[in-house]
Amino acid sequence: MTCKSCSSNKTPTMKDFQSNNLFTWCTNCGNYGIHTALRRALVAKKIPACQTLNCFDIGCNGNGSDKIGGYSFHGLHGRVIPMACGATMANSKMTVIAFGGDGGTLGEGVGHLVHAIRGNYNITFVLHNNLNYGLTKGQASPTTLKNMKMNSSPDGVTSELLHPANFVLSLESTFVARSFSGNVKHMAKTFEQALDHRGFSFVEILQSCPSYNKETPHEWYMDRVFDISNLADYDSSNRQQALAIAQDQEEKIAIGVLFQDKKSVPQIEKQPNRKDIVTDAYEETRHYDISKLLSKFR
Ligand code: SF4
Ligand code: MG
Repeated sequence: MTCKSCSSNKTPTMKDFQSNNLFTWCTNCGNYGIHTALRRALVAKKIPACQTLNCFDIGCNGNGSDKIGGYSFHGLHGRVIPMACGATMANSKMTVIAFGGDGGTLGEGVGHLVHAIRGNYNITFVLHNNLNYGLTKGQASPTTLKNMKMNSSPDGVTSELLHPANFVLSLESTFVARSFSGNVKHMAKTFEQALDHRGFSFVEILQSCPSYNKETPHEWYMDRVFDISNLADYDSSNRQQALAIAQDQEEKIAIGVLFQDKKSVPQIEKQPNRKDIVTDAYEETRHYDISKLLSKFR
């Protein structure tokens, strides 16, 4: 693909998305696999680094903000989604990807998730679901299993948990997928499908956190996950079927594209005032001299 900003037609490589900065995640953290899979997907889709904006929330996921090539943005806790939505509205040619943890996304920032889905903003959102607040050393998050003993709740969590995929499917979402941090190949394929979708792509990654989530380690997921693309009768355009298959998260956990509305229209194309306009908002900004106006208030 020829780069729309610098006209380069160099084929993107894994090297374009690498960084020389030192990784600080714990040994065997699922984040390593997530980053490798994302790089593979971007290269497979031939998306140049100079057309990629990666937006990071606060959390262990956010410690990846200087570990990947392309443009990066590191926002406030729980606020990465509106930042990413604003970016795609300002520059629709950019591939915008946002990353958030289960705490920031389904706790502090849950309202932003709901409204980004309503708007169907054209971004890929990756939920790093490790069932806890890892960066702050293992507190319970909205996805921590009931009765699980955490550093902030040593007698066990007493609240019901929030199932991310079911929650998102219950809204008018247009793309909902799930993958597992121990399967780089599956994650890369899922990211490719998410990048192809026109609208808000929600990708939940079941992420192992060997430091603070001892109840559902890598092996626990390995014993349970199965790829729905192997099911002959699964119809990913059927929201009810997706809701039913996403429900079980303890015995058999479905991964793959659970639901997709192929007629999805992204927010930018729904704006009446953008109809027939080929430029992007960032190309239309101008300097205005407002000193005369300001002088009236002196
Ligand atoms: Fe990864 Fe958990 Fe360590 Fe965070 S605390 S870097 S999620 S293993
Ligand atoms: Mg977390």
